[in-house]
Amino acid sequence: RRGSTLLEVSELTAAYGPVRALDGVSLRAGTGEITAVLGANGAGKTTLLRTISGLVRSSSGRVTLDGEDITAAPVEVMVRKGMAHVPEGRGVIAELTVEENLRVGALFRGKVGRAEFDRVYDLFPRIAERRDNPAHTLSGGERQMLVIGRALLAQPRMLLLDEPSLGLAPRIVAQIFALLRELVDRDGLSVLLVEQNARSALSVADVGIVLNLGRVVATDSAAALLADEQLRHAYLGF
Ligand code: ATP
Repeated sequence: RRGSTLLEVSELTAAYGPVRALDGVSLRAGTGEITAVLGANGAGKTTLLRTISGLVRSSSGRVTLDGEDITAAPVEVMVRKGMAHVPEGRGVIAELTVEENLRVGALFRGKVGRAEFDRVYDLFPRIAERRDNPAHTLSGGERQMLVIGRALLAQPRMLLLDEPSLGLAPRIVAQIFALLRELVDRDGLSVLLVEQNARSALSVADVGIVLNLGRVVATDSAAALLADEQLRHAYLGF
């Protein structure tokens, strides 16, 4: 089943008033793969994730997960169907402890037990060490790990991840990306990864999709996109 279509977006259009942020975007993300969505600031990457997960209402188009129509479904339905969204900005609840923040991720899942928490702690030893500390004491990298861990407690099949590298040291970014790769290869997780840091994203992704002004301008294997100097210069900034 690896590589078979899990998430499919067809002709998705979304606007903020007169600003058309998505203009007929179609793409697919495969099971057990990392699909990177790349493009300059304002290309529509964040809007794409927000529209897929129903936070922004689409004006037209369709989103399916494993063949089921989930266009604009409420968040608890999304979670039940296996979709988790880690928004840009690493929002944690500052006064709650790390463990209490993790518990939020399990809210829409009935049967989350100790084993699921321990699995997240095994993945992120730094988070395990800080489990009783208030979330506001965490570093940026630790917060990013916490919000990914919180999403994993919803036991997703498809993880939507928005700009996890933003403002983090390259060493921490490499660590987080390596972990994503492990989750994908070992557990069959599927990831739609939005990144402005195209070079790092393509080094971990299987497939890349390039957006410009709300439209898809290229879709190819990560290796082929990395090798395409013209495209890199035109859209990816390296
Ligand atoms: P970034 O990396 O800066 O988040 P992006 O590729 O994710 O960029 P979006 O944030 O999706 O791009 O923005 C796409 C377009 O929609 C841009 O023209 C942006 O100015 C506009 N836009 C985004 N959010 C809003 C909003 N809340 N209200 C009005 N316009 C918006």
